[in-house]
Amino acid sequence: MKCLSCQSEKVENFFVLKNAPLQSLITIKTYEEAIAIPKKDITLAFCNNCGFIFNSTFDTSIDYYTQGYEDQQGFSPTWLTYQTGITNRFIDKYGIRGKDIIEIGCGKGDYIQLICKLGNNRGIGIDPSYVSGRSETNPNVTFIKEFYSKKHGELPVDLIVCKHTMEHIYDPYNFVKNIRNWINKDKDIQVFIEVPTIVRILKINAFWDIYTEHCSYFSPGSLARLFRMNNFEILDTYLGYDDQYLYLEAKTSKNTTSQILPLEESVEELKGYVDGFVLKIKEELGKWNKLLLRMKEENEKVVIWGGGSKSVGFLTHFNDLKVISHVVDLNPHMQRNFIPSIGMQYVGPDFLREYKPDKVIIMNRIYKNEIGKMLSQMGLNPELICL
Ligand SMILES: [Zn+2]
Repeated sequence: MKCLSCQSEKVENFFVLKNAPLQSLITIKTYEEAIAIPKKDITLAFCNNCGFIFNSTFDTSIDYYTQGYEDQQGFSPTWLTYQTGITNRFIDKYGIRGKDIIEIGCGKGDYIQLICKLGNNRGIGIDPSYVSGRSETNPNVTFIKEFYSKKHGELPVDLIVCKHTMEHIYDPYNFVKNIRNWINKDKDIQVFIEVPTIVRILKINAFWDIYTEHCSYFSPGSLARLFRMNNFEILDTYLGYDDQYLYLEAKTSKNTTSQILPLEESVEELKGYVDGFVLKIKEELGKWNKLLLRMKEENEKVVIWGGGSKSVGFLTHFNDLKVISHVVDLNPHMQRNFIPSIGMQYVGPDFLREYKPDKVIIMNRIYKNEIGKMLSQMGLNPELICL
């Protein structure tokens, strides 16, 4: 087995998650279809050479993204405010105004629209799961409903943005190498990457953030090493969104420097986090199991707030307990869909008016205030439990 980021053979498996649904964001309209979603083990492997972590039993034969893939996050005001802030800072830092921007893996197009609007830029979003009419229209932004490929290297570009995409790329080594080889060599091209950070997952045992669509798990160090290896100069790397997300800013460069940035941890340090995770994860799952069983004994009405992969990642471990009755999500395109392999139907917040839950488990603590406010506006005061 070879590392998919640095090609080293110094790779070892360290964690197996049994029977994870193969898809967690696919759009499903019936219970039967939801239950029929196949399951497969996720095997996390660690590279002792570069620190990259990946699912070594990932099934590359599945079409994960073109069969109705629902990942739009822009329905939450907290998310929008956050993204606007981070983007304005980025625009000011590098003078990203009137530029040509390509977003690889643009989803429904929210982000490329945002950065083009804020900096008066021209944009092209590339994504096989793009659906037209789901984001604002701007004559300066166009979309290509395809996977990023060599021919896209001909497109005009000053900046490549790639947000919440690299964690879905099975072979990041070739992905970054290709970007580097395909783009125009005559000028410096900047890149702006956003991915979840594995360091937080390992440190707080965030098992709900491990699911099939995420086959690649980066740390500040492993992501920087990957880009540096492919002749990018790393300009900055930092964390955001309650330290959940990792940012990397880089540019193409003929002479890459070997200067290590403060946030980049060493491979040894990361190995320490991996060992800690292996030691603590069973205990963490046991704690949740006990807590949920107690809620069941007390006949409490328990719902999850926050659909999508995190809820599937969480329920993969505990759905059999039959404690959680509903999953709430703000995205109207998810409501009434059935949750892959779990079988529950997503509901909108309004459902809770009648249902009156005793407990709400919040999949992302950053939304606690927003959710608390919505609940109290509905006259509800359930206990909020944050992951
Ligand atoms: Zn490696």
